[in-house]
Amino acid sequence: MATIFSMIVAGDIPSYKVAENDQFYAFLDINPLAKGHTLVIPKREVDYFFDLTDEEIAAMQVFAKHVAAAIKEAFPCKKVGQAVLGLEVPHAHIHLVPMQSEKDMLFSNPKLKLTPEEFKAIAEAIANKFV
Ligand code: 5GP
Repeated sequence: MATIFSMIVAGDIPSYKVAENDQFYAFLDINPLAKGHTLVIPKREVDYFFDLTDEEIAAMQVFAKHVAAAIKEAFPCKKVGQAVLGLEVPHAHIHLVPMQSEKDMLFSNPKLKLTPEEFKAIAEAIANKFV
């Protein structure tokens, strides 16, 4: 069975898309730690991040770099933090989180509750900065 993230890539489950190319897809995390919290996933379904090929990891990191630059422009922050966890959804993904302090990366922090309109505006703001 396809993962929830593959269903998002296929458009069977809606998402707030930030960026996409032939190999990767970036969209807002539905339970964000901060405004702009984005997930970057490979379209190829692989559970464990480190099971991706060398070439895929390299290309995914470059794609994530450009997404992070767009997040930082849209949501000014000290740095965009990156984390790979993957214990909840068995489809490799990189979390990108705008940080004002290291504490903003604690996944035990309470998540933001945003309206659909807020998610849409955030995704558009990042997408508009993506190059
Ligand atoms: P992890 O696997 O890295 O521990 O956590 C998976 C992340 O994916 C969580 O931050 C969770 O909020 C996010 N997530 C899970 N299901 C969905 C979904 O259907 N849509 C979106 N946009 N994010 C999801």
